[in-house]
Order: sequence, then C-alpha cells, then structure tokens
Amino acid sequence: MKVLVLNCGSSSVKYQFISVDDKKVLAKGSIERIGMSSAILTHERYDGDKIKITGEILDHNIAIEYVLAVLLSKNHGVIKDKSEINAVGHRVVHGGEDFSGSTLITDSVIKILQDNFELAPLHNPPNVKGIQACKRHLPGIPQCGVFDTAFHQKMPPKAFLYGIPYQLYKSHKIRRYGFHGTSHLFVSQRVAELMNKPYESLKIITCHLGNGCSMAAIDHGVSIDTTMGFTPLEGLLMGTRCGDIDPSIPLHVMAKEDITLAEVTTMLNKHSGLVGISGISNDMREIIKSMNEDNKQAKYAFEVFCYRVKKYIGAFAATLGRIDVVVFTGGIGENSWEVRKEVLSNMEFLGIKLDEEKNLMKDGEREITTTDSMVKVFVIPTNEELLIALDTAKIVRDLTPQQI
Ligand code: AMP
Repeated sequence: MKVLVLNCGSSSVKYQFISVDDKKVLAKGSIERIGMSSAILTHERYDGDKIKITGEILDHNIAIEYVLAVLLSKNHGVIKDKSEINAVGHRVVHGGEDFSGSTLITDSVIKILQDNFELAPLHNPPNVKGIQACKRHLPGIPQCGVFDTAFHQKMPPKAFLYGIPYQLYKSHKIRRYGFHGTSHLFVSQRVAELMNKPYESLKIITCHLGNGCSMAAIDHGVSIDTTMGFTPLEGLLMGTRCGDIDPSIPLHVMAKEDITLAEVTTMLNKHSGLVGISGISNDMREIIKSMNEDNKQAKYAFEVFCYRVKKYIGAFAATLGRIDVVVFTGGIGENSWEVRKEVLSNMEFLGIKLDEEKNLMKDGEREITTTDSMVKVFVIPTNEELLIALDTAKIVRDLTPQQI
C-alpha cells in the first residue's frame, strides 16, 4: 500500500509518499510560501533525484495540484497514475476532545474539525483546506486524519484540568490537550521494540526537543501527562515560545508597555524562548556557539532550557512512580550532546547514569546510558510521517467499500 502523507501548514505543505509495506519513502518534498508569487517547491525522489521550482502558488488547492503533478512527472515522479495513491494521511494539529486516535475522514469529521477551529486557529484551517483539496483532486481515495492531540486524550482530569472556573472548561473547552502526540507515540513504541520489552509494561518519559518542545509521561502505553497544554505554548522553553510563565505576566506587560492582546500574543509565541532570553537566535546551535564565546544571555538561555527539561523529568518520575526509560528526539534532542549532558547530569539518584562517550556518538537510534544504569536513556530520531502512513494504512485496510 502507498500512502501520501500531508502536513498542511498556514503557508506550507510538506509531503512524503511512502510505500508502507517496506516503510520506504518513495518521494518527499515541500511547498513553502503558499499565497505568494515566489512559492518554492522542492522535491526529492528515493534515488536522490532532486528538483526545485519557484512560481506563483496562491492557495492550498493549487499546492496539492503541484504535489500530484510532481509525483506524476515523467522525469521526476514515482507514479504513472493517481490511482497508485492508495490513501492520504493528514497530520492534523488539533482533534479537541473528539479524537483519541486516528480516523477516516468523512464529512462529519470535517465538520468536527471546523467546529474546533477556535482551538487551533493557525493550524486546523489549513489542515482542512488540504483535506478539501485532496477530495477534489483525488476523488474516491480514502483520507485519514492523524491528530497531534490524540495520544494525550487519555490523560486523567487531574492532569488536564486547569485551576480556573470549571465552567470555562465546559463552555469553551479550556483544558490541557498536549501536542506532538504522533512523535511521542512513535518514539515510545520504538524504544520498547529496541529494549525488546512489551510496550504496555514500560514507564517512559519522552522528550521531543525541536523548535517546538514537549515531554510526555507514558504509563503502560498511555500518555498520562504532558508539558504542552491548551495551546503549544505551555511547558518547556522553546525556540521562540516562552513555555511556562506566571499567567499574570502578559496582563502586566500589556499595561506596562501599552501593547495590545495581539502584540503580547506575538511576544509570547515569536519573541520569547531561546531567542527571547539570548537576544541572538532561536537555534540551539547558535546559542551553544555564543555560550562557548562567553555570551552571558546565551548561557542563560541554554541553562533555562535544560533546567526545565530536568525539572519535568523529576516531576514525571514522581507522577509515574518509576521510570524505565527516557527518550530524546527532535532536532535538539537528537543532535545536541551538550543539552543531553546538561539535562542528565547528577541524575544518579533517579537511576540515570549517562555514558559520556556514547552521548557523543552521532546519528541513528542509540542508547546513551552506562550498562549498569537502572534507567535507560535512548536517542531515537522521530518519524511522524511513517506513523501517519502506518496508521492510515491500518484504517484503510479495514474499510468496507461502503465506507469509502
Ligand atoms: P526540529 O523542529 O525538530 O526540526 O528541530 C529544529 C531545531 O533543532 C533547530 O532550530 C536547532 O535549534 C536544533 N538543532 C538541529 N541540529 C542541531 C545540533 N547539531 N545541535 C543543536 N541543536 C540542533
């Protein structure tokens, strides 16, 4: 079975065309700057053939047309006919409380996604545009939604309720949802395979540290707590997002700086986090470089980032009652030995003993703790696209013709 995996953002579409049976990526690429006259399509085939096209792509409907055209292209494509696409799997950011797993997309599912627009105003509308474009260009081909929030839907109320009037949860759905669920699920399942242990027997802490960062406490295959909340702004420090702050700070800043709600929202989402503290960059590589050149603010940014991950490992250890394994993933989690070293230093009291040499190794799935470490730590590259393709294939294989 071959699945087209789509991640439709507000001005971009990322895609991978995956042969599910052998888990092979046949082609992948992206369209950036949708809505502008200088949109850029980059496409790479499994054999390394690459192209880059610049042109006007005004909306998601046209973007999907381009994705299909390049997959069908005589010179750069991988299929001769659209019917070779057996299904489409969409990354959908917010499923609200309606989805605790991946689902076949029907008209009623689209309606629920539209009802949830308020919960993810930047992300869900382009997701739906992508779904509607596929309906148009790939009629009859089943589509599935794989939600960033779904894996965390089994969190208990004590983990997802905020200490605000309960009525706000009932009337405006204000609660913690959590995000990056596909990544947390993928790496936690994968670590169980690598440890050769049943997934349901393990207590796992996953750290997805990329431009966006979140952690999850996974107990017997269930995410029982996570660091992101109502929006992806809560929790860890991120590239440009503040993570946990005192909720009265935005109100105070609005009054003091005489700025609007929109301006303070931009400040917390785009000008905070690593870039906010360092004043240099949202990229951990730049932060570490400047820190090594004795830049004080870069050092603070690095330290706040790592301290918060360490703090949540402690919190989740208490929540889980035991840890078997910690997993690092995402651009920072996979690549920065400096961050892992800082986070995992002095954690012997929790049973974590970092092997400094293994921690320096690069690339691939690897364990980085000593052989006598009670708690194992792994680095596992995330692969959300593969999980989306596998989930989609599973749903589509079980379909009756009437459901399509
Ligand atoms: P992601 O969102 O998972 O693609 O992660 C992107 C982020 O990973 C970048 O913004 C960098 O901060 C970080 N990153 C990538 N490579 C490295 C590296 N070698 N060392 C430190 N950070 C890295």
